[in-house]
Amino acid sequence: MAAQLGNRLAPTLLDSWWSRPKYATWATKYDRTSTCRAHIKRGHGVLAPQHFGVTGLKLPVSKLRGAEKGHAHRNISQKRTLGAVSSTLNISETEADNEAGETARKLVKQAVAEGRFVFEREEVDAFKQMLNMTDSQLCEHMISPATKLARPPISGYYVGAVGMGESGRVYLGVNLEFSRLPMQMAVHAEQFMVANALRMKERAIVRLAVSAAPCGHCRQFMAELPRVDAMEIKVINQPTMFLPELLPARFGPEDLLHDSSTPRLLEDRHNGLTLTAAAAALCLDEDLSAIGDAALDAANSAYTPYSECPSGLAVRTACGSVYQGGAVESCAYNPGMSPLQTTLVAALAEGGHRWEEMQTAVLVELPGAPVQHAEIVELVLKRIAPNARLVVLSAER
Ligand SMILES: [Zn+2]
Repeated sequence: MAAQLGNRLAPTLLDSWWSRPKYATWATKYDRTSTCRAHIKRGHGVLAPQHFGVTGLKLPVSKLRGAEKGHAHRNISQKRTLGAVSSTLNISETEADNEAGETARKLVKQAVAEGRFVFEREEVDAFKQMLNMTDSQLCEHMISPATKLARPPISGYYVGAVGMGESGRVYLGVNLEFSRLPMQMAVHAEQFMVANALRMKERAIVRLAVSAAPCGHCRQFMAELPRVDAMEIKVINQPTMFLPELLPARFGPEDLLHDSSTPRLLEDRHNGLTLTAAAAALCLDEDLSAIGDAALDAANSAYTPYSECPSGLAVRTACGSVYQGGAVESCAYNPGMSPLQTTLVAALAEGGHRWEEMQTAVLVELPGAPVQHAEIVELVLKRIAPNARLVVLSAER
């Protein structure tokens, strides 16, 4: 039935959505719901996207009427779609309402529970439509399932952060802790969300929703973001706030970066590094070209305006997947992220990997630079991925 469903769906968002391998299972799952069976029984033999609520069926008719009164965010064409669909189907307003909310909640919860950390703009728009929510409300709604993806073996305190980029994508973040290592290795949920957006080349975060008030460390870390003063910050069940309220009289990037053209965190940058001849030869000898290129790319994208010591890491897992991350500095130094931390964010966000699945790690940095990561990366890898081999490649400008 999943294949039949895929063939019959109109060419909309759901086509690409369901065609992803992990969502093929959703098609089967939702085909079995009473909702879909009910539509088939009513003679709507073809399951179209609206049966999943994306084009309107699942949107509550009662809420549509609210929209017509002018206090919701729908546009005219959406209302027309809703009207057409709801009149086609002989279901009560209450039934539509319940089905809409329930299906939408399941979809969002399932997507997050399956370990997705990035949602494309089209998916976000579909979720908003299904749940009849604004951007801000959707971000807040996604916090709860997101927190379950955290890995806090020391504190047992689960934190979830949901950020929306100016592209319209939504990025999730969770806190990571590492047993038998110093607490400084921990990654906070807001840092995870920012590193997640960074690897997707998002250029600014316009809103953030978090399960608990951002700690001082994260407030300082987020001060590196471009146009951060306009970023809406919503702590669950609290009014919207902005960074100037949370971090007044701050020490910020402008205190150290006197050239206003210096790219801020998330903004495009290239650090101009190449591998030394010896490092390039080592890559060839050890069959590390692909992972070496990834590490060099991460070093060239690293945000290190304060030390000017860029570094990047790439890891290869047992199944051959490669993940990369560059150093991210803070003007206050300590709240920054090491290339290992940003790489772990990528390995979890992209592949959902356990740390011990990492087999090979390649670090690119400048030899003799005042800031270096090789020894710390080696120590940490010994703890979290004891079988991983670390290769350090020297770069030059
Ligand atoms: Zn924090």
